[in-house]
Amino acid sequence: RKIVEIAGINLDDISMEQAVERIYEFISSAENHSVFTPNAEIMMEGITDKNMKALLNGADMLVADGAGVVLASKLLGREVTEKVSGFDLVKNLLKAASQRPVKFYLFGGKPGIAEKANANIICDYPGAEVVGTRSGYFTSDDEASIIEDINSSGAEVLLVCLGAPKQELWITANKHRLKVKASLGVGGTMDVLAG
Ligand code: UDP
Repeated sequence: RKIVEIAGINLDDISMEQAVERIYEFISSAENHSVFTPNAEIMMEGITDKNMKALLNGADMLVADGAGVVLASKLLGREVTEKVSGFDLVKNLLKAASQRPVKFYLFGGKPGIAEKANANIICDYPGAEVVGTRSGYFTSDDEASIIEDINSSGAEVLLVCLGAPKQELWITANKHRLKVKASLGVGGTMDVLAG
């Protein structure tokens, strides 16, 4: 892992192409890996709040979402290769799936949104198979059944769109209970895919 440190936060210095490649490496590995894509606002929180910093630094891959983060890295003289936003990363992964199929589980958004995103994925991205969907509004009583549904779906990549930092906290808390190989905290991506 090539790292660029910004005020104590360890970002991966990685291009979009390499980021997609890393996710395929995660898919062929034995364990679940967390991928977070903090925007400038969450990066700022990570700089000032030590719990947020630990949460972000606990990711297996941490990429800069937004020109602001890339600019900050430049100003500090530790430039990250390029902006890898959560949505762009998901889009590139969905595209790559036409060559190397991937099974996705879509978790997050208001009721019906993940299903809409799936309908668009079916039309736009052959090779990307959505094996399960779940809205992002739930209580702690639902957690066990959500995890069971994800685990029994056979998904390799889990998209978690609960907003930040809820999604990062959820992924971190459940990392070792999830049988997927990569869990991506990708915020509003579900709404864009559904749009
Ligand atoms: N969301 C969710 N469950 C929640 C809160 C939010 O599924 O408890 C979804 C929301 O519907 C939206 C996405 O998370 O699709 C991103 O939310 P928001 O724009 O608030 O977060 P951000 O992208 O700014 O991190």
